[in-house]
Amino acid sequence: MSAPAVSKVRLATVWLDGCSGCHMSLLDTDERLIEIAPLIELVYGPLVDLKEFPQGVDVTLVEGAVSSEEDLHKIRQVRARTRVLVSLGDCAVSGNVPAMRNKFGAQAVLKRAYLENATLDAQIPREIIPRLLSESRPVHEVVPVDVYVPGCPPPADLIFSVLSDLLAGKTPNPAAKFG
Ligand code: SF4
Repeated sequence: MSAPAVSKVRLATVWLDGCSGCHMSLLDTDERLIEIAPLIELVYGPLVDLKEFPQGVDVTLVEGAVSSEEDLHKIRQVRARTRVLVSLGDCAVSGNVPAMRNKFGAQAVLKRAYLENATLDAQIPREIIPRLLSESRPVHEVVPVDVYVPGCPPPADLIFSVLSDLLAGKTPNPAAKFG
Protein backbone atom coordinates (compact mmCIF):
# COMPACT_ATOMS: atom_id res chain seq x y z
CA MET A 1 0.00 0.00 0.00
CA SER A 2 1.43 3.42 -0.92
CA ALA A 3 1.95 6.08 1.77
CA PRO A 4 -0.74 8.79 1.95
CA ALA A 5 0.16 11.91 -0.07
CA VAL A 6 1.47 14.77 2.09
CA SER A 7 -0.47 17.94 1.31
CA LYS A 8 1.71 20.73 0.07
CA VAL A 9 1.68 24.25 1.48
CA ARG A 10 -0.02 26.58 -0.98
CA LEU A 11 2.45 29.48 -1.26
CA ALA A 12 1.95 32.83 -2.99
CA THR A 13 4.12 35.90 -3.41
CA VAL A 14 2.77 39.37 -4.13
CA TRP A 15 4.52 42.46 -5.46
CA LEU A 16 2.92 45.78 -4.46
CA ASP A 17 4.88 49.09 -4.43
CA GLY A 18 8.41 47.66 -4.24
CA CYS A 19 11.46 47.38 -6.45
CA SER A 20 11.45 43.55 -6.77
CA GLY A 21 14.58 43.39 -4.60
CA CYS A 22 12.76 41.32 -1.96
CA HIS A 23 11.75 38.78 -4.62
CA MET A 24 15.37 38.76 -5.83
CA SER A 25 16.49 38.00 -2.28
CA LEU A 26 14.00 35.12 -2.14
CA LEU A 27 15.60 33.74 -5.31
CA ASP A 28 19.02 34.24 -3.66
CA THR A 29 18.20 31.26 -1.43
CA ASP A 30 19.56 29.46 -4.51
CA GLU A 31 19.75 25.67 -4.29
CA ARG A 32 17.80 25.67 -1.03
CA LEU A 33 14.72 26.34 -3.19
CA ILE A 34 15.14 22.77 -4.43
CA GLU A 35 14.98 21.61 -0.81
CA ILE A 36 11.63 23.25 -0.21
CA ALA A 37 10.14 22.68 -3.67
CA PRO A 38 8.58 19.29 -2.78
CA LEU A 39 6.84 20.89 0.21
CA ILE A 40 5.12 23.74 -1.60
CA GLU A 41 2.74 24.48 -4.42
CA LEU A 42 3.50 27.94 -5.82
CA VAL A 43 0.01 29.18 -6.64
CA TYR A 44 0.53 32.89 -7.38
CA GLY A 45 3.34 35.39 -7.95
CA PRO A 46 5.37 37.20 -10.62
CA LEU A 47 6.56 33.84 -11.95
CA VAL A 48 3.09 32.29 -12.09
CA ASP A 49 0.86 32.99 -15.08
CA LEU A 50 -2.36 33.59 -13.18
CA LYS A 51 -4.22 36.91 -13.16
CA GLU A 52 -6.61 36.41 -10.23
CA PHE A 53 -5.27 35.74 -6.72
CA PRO A 54 -6.57 32.26 -5.80
CA GLN A 55 -8.68 31.15 -2.84
CA GLY A 56 -7.32 29.00 -0.02
CA VAL A 57 -3.69 30.14 0.11
CA ASP A 58 -1.70 28.97 3.15
CA VAL A 59 1.17 31.49 3.11
CA THR A 60 1.60 34.74 1.17
CA LEU A 61 4.81 36.78 1.12
CA VAL A 62 4.03 40.44 0.37
CA GLU A 63 6.71 42.76 -1.01
CA GLY A 64 6.13 46.51 -1.15
CA ALA A 65 3.96 49.17 0.42
CA VAL A 66 0.32 49.95 -0.33
CA SER A 67 0.50 53.02 -2.58
CA SER A 68 -2.31 52.88 -5.13
CA GLU A 69 -5.97 51.97 -5.35
CA GLU A 70 -4.90 48.81 -7.15
CA ASP A 71 -2.55 47.87 -4.27
CA LEU A 72 -5.36 48.48 -1.80
CA HIS A 73 -7.81 46.27 -3.67
CA LYS A 74 -5.19 43.55 -4.11
CA ILE A 75 -3.97 43.40 -0.50
CA ARG A 76 -7.56 43.23 0.83
CA GLN A 77 -8.28 40.33 -1.52
CA VAL A 78 -4.96 38.64 -0.62
CA ARG A 79 -5.71 38.96 3.11
CA ALA A 80 -9.18 37.51 2.71
CA ARG A 81 -7.78 34.48 0.86
CA THR A 82 -4.60 33.85 2.91
CA ARG A 83 -4.09 32.03 6.21
CA VAL A 84 -0.63 33.45 7.10
CA LEU A 85 0.29 36.86 5.67
CA VAL A 86 3.98 37.80 5.75
CA SER A 87 5.23 41.38 5.32
CA LEU A 88 8.44 40.81 3.39
CA GLY A 89 10.96 43.64 3.51
CA ASP A 90 11.06 47.19 4.81
CA CYS A 91 8.64 48.66 2.25
CA ALA A 92 5.92 46.24 3.39
CA VAL A 93 6.94 46.49 7.07
CA SER A 94 7.37 50.25 7.44
CA GLY A 95 6.67 52.01 4.12
CA ASN A 96 10.41 52.61 3.56
CA VAL A 97 11.20 54.04 0.09
CA PRO A 98 7.63 54.42 -1.27
CA ALA A 99 6.61 56.32 1.89
CA MET A 100 9.27 58.97 1.25
CA ARG A 101 6.70 60.70 -0.96
CA ASN A 102 4.23 61.14 1.89
CA LYS A 103 5.57 64.48 3.07
CA PHE A 104 5.13 65.98 -0.42
CA GLY A 105 1.72 64.57 -1.35
CA ALA A 106 0.70 62.50 -4.37
CA GLN A 107 -0.02 65.45 -6.68
CA ALA A 108 3.41 66.99 -6.15
CA VAL A 109 5.09 63.67 -6.96
CA LEU A 110 3.02 63.18 -10.13
CA LYS A 111 3.78 66.75 -11.21
CA ARG A 112 7.51 66.23 -10.66
CA ALA A 113 7.62 62.92 -12.51
CA TYR A 114 5.31 63.60 -15.44
CA LEU A 115 5.48 67.39 -15.97
CA GLU A 116 8.69 68.90 -14.60
CA ASN A 117 10.95 66.00 -15.62
CA ALA A 118 9.27 65.28 -18.96
CA THR A 119 10.98 66.38 -22.16
CA LEU A 120 8.21 65.25 -24.50
CA ASP A 121 4.41 65.28 -24.33
CA ALA A 122 4.27 66.28 -20.65
CA GLN A 123 0.99 65.20 -19.05
CA ILE A 124 -0.15 63.40 -15.92
CA PRO A 125 -1.63 60.04 -16.99
CA ARG A 126 -5.31 59.59 -16.12
CA GLU A 127 -5.80 56.12 -17.62
CA ILE A 128 -3.97 52.78 -17.29
CA ILE A 129 -1.77 53.97 -14.38
CA PRO A 130 -3.56 53.09 -11.09
CA ARG A 131 -4.58 56.14 -9.03
CA LEU A 132 -2.18 56.88 -6.18
CA LEU A 133 -3.46 56.93 -2.62
CA SER A 134 -2.80 60.18 -0.78
CA GLU A 135 -0.12 58.35 1.26
CA SER A 136 1.89 55.18 0.84
CA ARG A 137 1.22 52.86 3.81
CA PRO A 138 2.90 49.79 5.31
CA VAL A 139 0.82 46.65 4.88
CA HIS A 140 -0.18 46.29 8.56
CA GLU A 141 -1.89 49.71 8.48
CA VAL A 142 -4.30 48.35 5.88
CA VAL A 143 -4.81 44.67 6.78
CA PRO A 144 -3.67 42.44 9.68
CA VAL A 145 -0.18 40.96 9.24
CA ASP A 146 0.97 37.70 10.88
CA VAL A 147 4.75 37.76 10.38
CA TYR A 148 7.19 40.65 9.79
CA VAL A 149 10.46 40.07 7.93
CA PRO A 150 12.52 43.30 7.96
CA GLY A 151 15.44 44.28 5.75
CA CYS A 152 15.99 46.10 2.48
CA PRO A 153 15.97 43.52 1.18
CA PRO A 154 15.76 40.88 3.91
CA PRO A 155 18.79 38.57 3.65
CA ALA A 156 18.19 35.31 1.82
CA ASP A 157 19.17 33.36 4.95
CA LEU A 158 16.45 35.12 6.93
CA ILE A 159 13.81 34.48 4.27
CA PHE A 160 14.78 30.82 4.11
CA SER A 161 14.66 30.51 7.89
CA VAL A 162 11.17 32.07 8.03
CA LEU A 163 9.92 29.90 5.17
CA SER A 164 11.34 26.75 6.78
CA ASP A 165 9.54 27.54 10.04
CA LEU A 166 6.26 28.20 8.26
CA LEU A 167 6.53 25.01 6.22
CA ALA A 168 7.18 23.09 9.45
CA GLY A 169 4.05 24.62 10.98
CA LYS A 170 6.04 26.76 13.44
CA THR A 171 5.62 30.48 14.13
CA PRO A 172 8.76 32.24 12.92
CA ASN A 173 10.46 34.89 15.02
CA PRO A 174 12.84 36.70 12.66
CA ALA A 175 13.88 39.24 15.34
CA ALA A 176 15.12 36.44 17.63
CA LYS A 177 17.23 34.89 14.88
CA PHE A 178 18.72 37.92 13.22
CA GLY A 179 17.73 40.87 15.39
FE1 SF4 B 1 13.13 47.02 -2.74
FE2 SF4 B 1 14.13 47.31 -0.27
FE3 SF4 B 1 11.56 47.78 -0.72
FE4 SF4 B 1 12.44 45.26 -0.83
S1 SF4 B 1 12.41 46.58 1.00
S2 SF4 B 1 11.05 46.27 -2.28
S3 SF4 B 1 14.51 45.61 -1.68
S4 SF4 B 1 13.30 48.95 -1.59
